[in-house]
Amino acid sequence: MQRILTIIGARPQFIKASVVSRAIKQTSGIEEVLLHTGQHFDANMSAVFFDQLGIPRPDIQLDIHGGSHGAMTGRMLAEIEQVIIDQKPDRVMVYGDTNSTLAGALAAAKLHVPVAHVEAGLRSFNMAMPEEINRILTDQISDLLFCPTATAVRNLENEGFAHKPAQVLQVGDVMQDAALFFARRAEAPVGLDVPDAFILATLHRAENTDDPQRLAAIVEGLNRVHRQVAPVVLPLHPRTRAAIERNGLKLEVTTIDPVGYFEMVWLLDHCGLVLTDSGGVQKEAFFFGKACVTMRDQTEWVELVEAGVNELVGADQEKIAAAAERHIGRKVKDNAHLYGGGQAAQRIVDELVKADL
Ligand code: UDP
Repeated sequence: MQRILTIIGARPQFIKASVVSRAIKQTSGIEEVLLHTGQHFDANMSAVFFDQLGIPRPDIQLDIHGGSHGAMTGRMLAEIEQVIIDQKPDRVMVYGDTNSTLAGALAAAKLHVPVAHVEAGLRSFNMAMPEEINRILTDQISDLLFCPTATAVRNLENEGFAHKPAQVLQVGDVMQDAALFFARRAEAPVGLDVPDAFILATLHRAENTDDPQRLAAIVEGLNRVHRQVAPVVLPLHPRTRAAIERNGLKLEVTTIDPVGYFEMVWLLDHCGLVLTDSGGVQKEAFFFGKACVTMRDQTEWVELVEAGVNELVGADQEKIAAAAERHIGRKVKDNAHLYGGGQAAQRIVDELVKADL
């Protein structure tokens, strides 16, 4: 029996891990131990996903959140190391690009426990992003690199992975598995009265929330879109809420608390356009046939920009408003093969089984 320690801690990781955990449960020969670092801890950023998506209750729950990047990552590193010593997993599996990802991978690699990285090879080529640092370092110490796209495989080849013993595998994107699987569970957010053709917005990336000028420009851009293009609905991330208050900014759009995944899927399905700085939400727009305007200067999901269904507008209020006007109501055709067509979790589990032989 192969024993895998899965390390998760942030909202997108709960969604990604839910589909892989389900595939593991349907496979004999793998036992999963689940560790939640505590990085996201509000009920609507954590517990709701365990409830809705049927993720098993974590076997180990750390309570590590807040503080600087170094302090948070360091505390996670020390505590995860002890868990690995106690649990003796055959492999550690990490997801994405958060501090929980890097801490889990580093703790394992130092103890010579092999690391599988789900969402390997993504690059924005912007080293000012904490996520970029986390993903590059995690890839370097992983031995199974599960890439969502052909671009991710190419990025790793360009970094010399062809000459390393690690295995680089294009398996598809587990977020497409989740979107396809849970679409049937879509639920309108309770008490939200939205007109047709509203715009769904999300905003949480540190490069936007931690830079007062960028944040002010984006808030003004969203307000303009709300006034001039279509009503904007924004489930507000706690970090963004705090940053907006700290900077004395005023959002005129409809803000709601962060929603669960079933509500998010409903919003994606019913909106006329997505405006976001999220990684995952850019692809979900595509999965639900919507165009996306991305409030960043780079994206890891370049194939969507190349396909003309995602436009990068940075933190420029003019560009945000003009792009929203241009793209609202556009119907985007899903080319399922870009992201693996919903088979990523099963491919990952098949590779884990093979790697154990
Ligand atoms: N999401 C959600 N509720 C929300 C906002 C986002 O369920 O109120 C989901 C979203 O559909 C996607 C994931 O959270 O699956 C994306 O997470 P986030 O944007 O926080 O992180 P990123 O993808 O940028 O790493």
